[in-house]
Amino acid sequence: ASDTRLYQSNDKSPLQIFVRAKKKINDIYGEIEEYVHETTTFINALHAEAEIVDKAERELFESYVYKVAAIREVLQRDHMKVAFFGRTSNGKSSVINAMLREKILPSGIGHTTNCFCQVEGNDGGEAYLMTEGSAEKLNVVNIKQLANALCQEKLCESSLVRIFWPRERCSLLRDDVVFVDSPGVDVSANLDDWIDNHCLNADVFVLVLNAESTMTRAEKQFFHTVSQKLSKPNIFILNNRWDASANEPECQESVKSQHTERCIDFLTKELKVSNEKEAAERVFFVSARETLQARIEEAKGNPPHMGAIAEGFQIRYFEFQDFERKFEECISQSAVKTKFQQHSSRGKSVSGDMRSMLDNIYERITIFRNLKQDQKNLLTDRIQGTETQMMQVTRDMKQKIHTMVEEVEEKVSKALNE
Ligand code: GDP
Repeated sequence: ASDTRLYQSNDKSPLQIFVRAKKKINDIYGEIEEYVHETTTFINALHAEAEIVDKAERELFESYVYKVAAIREVLQRDHMKVAFFGRTSNGKSSVINAMLREKILPSGIGHTTNCFCQVEGNDGGEAYLMTEGSAEKLNVVNIKQLANALCQEKLCESSLVRIFWPRERCSLLRDDVVFVDSPGVDVSANLDDWIDNHCLNADVFVLVLNAESTMTRAEKQFFHTVSQKLSKPNIFILNNRWDASANEPECQESVKSQHTERCIDFLTKELKVSNEKEAAERVFFVSARETLQARIEEAKGNPPHMGAIAEGFQIRYFEFQDFERKFEECISQSAVKTKFQQHSSRGKSVSGDMRSMLDNIYERITIFRNLKQDQKNLLTDRIQGTETQMMQVTRDMKQKIHTMVEEVEEKVSKALNE
């Protein structure tokens, strides 16, 4: 029953913009590939039989085959990538788990991972992980095992562990969203390495803050570096652990507006990545732990509020869903633009180059055909001339022989008479 629910809600998801665009562009490239292969056969024949196409041209055309194949490969791997940052224990892993509706990443004290963890969909039904530089698939049956595997591995903080999780278990993974969890921004001094290795192709960044404290310098610095390297990154800010505010209802609103103002200022005035209106739609107050618990209850068939931690669950739960909706719209549009725009302009330029080359070849074929016709005509004339000559010779010969025979006959009869 829960699977049917996933399928139903999924069809209306803004992520479908990306999914459909990906299918369409893949189909178009499939056609281009077929066309390129067909044309290659034709070009090779022109080279072998008539030498209308020279070696350099043939090689150039072959390079289009490789180009198209390379683009197709990248296309098949294209996905939407979201990366989570913030201090250790702010709840990054919990937010990812809540979005995936399952406890996939280990979270909590003692399970802090000191490396990047990427969760992506896997078509087979199995869950496994792979560490950087190794082709070995480590099977993961449950969360405990995954946590142990992550602890046991001696991993450098900027290395990457890839967790492959069955697509059918989560609609976001099925729609090609890839999640990247980072070590706390308080841990590393190698921000440049982090960004170069893990962030340049991210479509959305989520800064997970602890609503119980203020944004730190390390958290700010990280995003300053990101926005220097990427033009206008899409940044969402989650003020997590908002359930804690239920303990102090008297100052809840003032704390909220203070945080909101600071977050909006950070996005608009400091980073200059958003305008006021957009920034206001990118700041949320949530409880990841509570949302995850609610979703686990839902999966069991129970009402979501059974996962509530504190007073005010419904508002926080709606806010989390609102975040997801805006996040899905943003990531889908951004990924289509940044990823497919590139492919379609490359596709256009490759097909333009092929076309002008083929036009050129066609022209040469026409000239070649006319030339052949001329040669044929010349040859026909010559043969006709020879034939007339031969007939003349034959007639002359016949005449000569005739005369000779008559002479011989005359000589013979004369001799007999004598
Ligand atoms: P990370 O280091 O940023 O990935 O943080 P984790 O997701 O591992 O969370 C650290 C601890 O905080 C865990 O024990 C979580 O259960 C807890 N936690 C995460 N989010 C929330 C929340 O929204 N409310 C509360 N009360 N606890 C949370």
